This record gives sequence, C-alpha cells and structure tokens, in this order.
Amino acid sequence: MLGDTVVATCLDRVVGGRQLFERQLAAPLPRDPELVLVTDLDGTLLGGPTADRRRFYHWLAEQRQRVLHVFCTGRDLGSIARVLQEDEPIGLAAPHLVIGDVGCTVACGSSLLPLPLAVDPIEARWAGLQERLLPLLQGQPGLTSQPIHSDRRLAYYVDVERFDHSLVPQLEAYGVDCLLSDNRYLDLLPAGVNKGSTLLTLLEWLELDHAKVVTAGDTLNDLAMFETGLNGVMVGNAEAALLAHLPRLPSVYLAAGEGCAGIAEGLRHFGFDHRWD
Ligand SMILES: [Mg+2]
Repeated sequence: MLGDTVVATCLDRVVGGRQLFERQLAAPLPRDPELVLVTDLDGTLLGGPTADRRRFYHWLAEQRQRVLHVFCTGRDLGSIARVLQEDEPIGLAAPHLVIGDVGCTVACGSSLLPLPLAVDPIEARWAGLQERLLPLLQGQPGLTSQPIHSDRRLAYYVDVERFDHSLVPQLEAYGVDCLLSDNRYLDLLPAGVNKGSTLLTLLEWLELDHAKVVTAGDTLNDLAMFETGLNGVMVGNAEAALLAHLPRLPSVYLAAGEGCAGIAEGLRHFGFDHRWD
C-alpha cells in the first residue's frame, strides 16, 4: 500500500492534481472558468417559475465554456439522471460535475459515473457504519427508510413530532453526523462529510480560485456549503430553519427571488452580472 501511495504522490507531482482528477472524467472541464456555479437542485435550480427556469437553463447552456457548473444535491445518481431527463424539455442540461448523496458521492456530470479519487476516501469513512447503525434505527417511531439507493449514507423520512430526538447523540457516537433537512429528511452521513466539505475537496483537486465560486441552496442540508465562507445565495424560498443561520453567515446573500430567479439575483449581487445580463 505504501508503494501505491509513493507512486500516487510522484504521479501527482508530475501531472498535477487537476490532471489526475480530470483523467477520471468523461468530458473535459472549462480550462479557466470565469465562474464556478454550485447549485442545490430541489427548491434551488429546480425551483421558481418555469419561465425563469427556462431562461436560466438557456443561459447556462450558452455559458458552458465560461461557467463550470456543479450540482450539489441530496439526490442519488439515479434520481439525478431522472430529473435531467424529465426537465430536458425546458432546457436543463447535465452539469460538469455532480456532488450527490448530500456530499457522499462525487461524479462526472456527463457520464454520472462516480469519481474514485473523491469517493474512495468517503467510502473508507463509511465502512462498517451501516451494519452498526441499522439495529439502532429499526422500529424507531417517526422514521421511514427512503425508497432510494443511497451510497455512503442512510436516508430516512422523519416525522419530527414522533421522532425520539435523544437518539441523535447515540447515533453520532458511532461516528456519523445526523442531518435534518426540510423538516422531513434525516440523513446519516460519515462524520465530517457534507456538501461543504466535499465541495472544498473538489475545489482543491481542481485548483480553482475560491473567489470565482458562488453556491446556492434552500434547506438545512445546504448550510455546510454556506459555512465554507464561499460566496453563497440563499434563495427566497429558503426554509425558516436555514434563514435563522443567516446573521452569522457574512458571505451569504439572501435573494428575494425563488429558485432560479434567486440564483440569477445572487450572481448580480456578487458581481457576475456581466455574465448573466
Ligand atoms: Mg433544496
């Protein structure tokens, strides 16, 4: 194993982290993007009036060489593939990169195949956790397993009135973070892994300037993205529990517009209006 590490490190020096990473992609990334746009899906990129969505998707497609687009969502890869198909008629196109499963999956946007360089370290942190956690979760009031194929996390619907909240510290003692979002989703993620941590790792691999990044989201599972200190847009339809954090997030702009209209408003706010208007 040590031999592998040495080889990887040497290779790293010769070709650079970004090149190494790009070798795992099916399609090339913009060489020197002017903007790195990182969008949540439900309520954010998929949110707002259809006319605003069409206009925004059209703009994104036109800017493909200048804007590096990343989906950053709680959805798994299968569900992302479905939404791309469903919303293709209104112009939604595949992004360059995908962060899925609330930060536990990283994939190429065009092939939707996971990228081992980013995923393997998360997989290692998840190893054995599911087997240890499931017995504690079985039969708990207010919890229903989500009918999705989730990777490196456990995903539940939660009835917050019936759920026994004292279970959270017991679960977290096993080395997971419990993330309640939109008042109805409960995710168990390997401790320290979330949308924000995975996004920062990705930016490091790609050697991207943080000043060029704008993130956008609407629920508590986006909070970790907003806590990175990167420019962020909380869209106008953000959930109340997320809005409550706004005063301590100086790099985050609260938009009036919902969904896509809010993202566009945020891009103007952060000085990318010459790209948008
Ligand atoms: Mg959302």
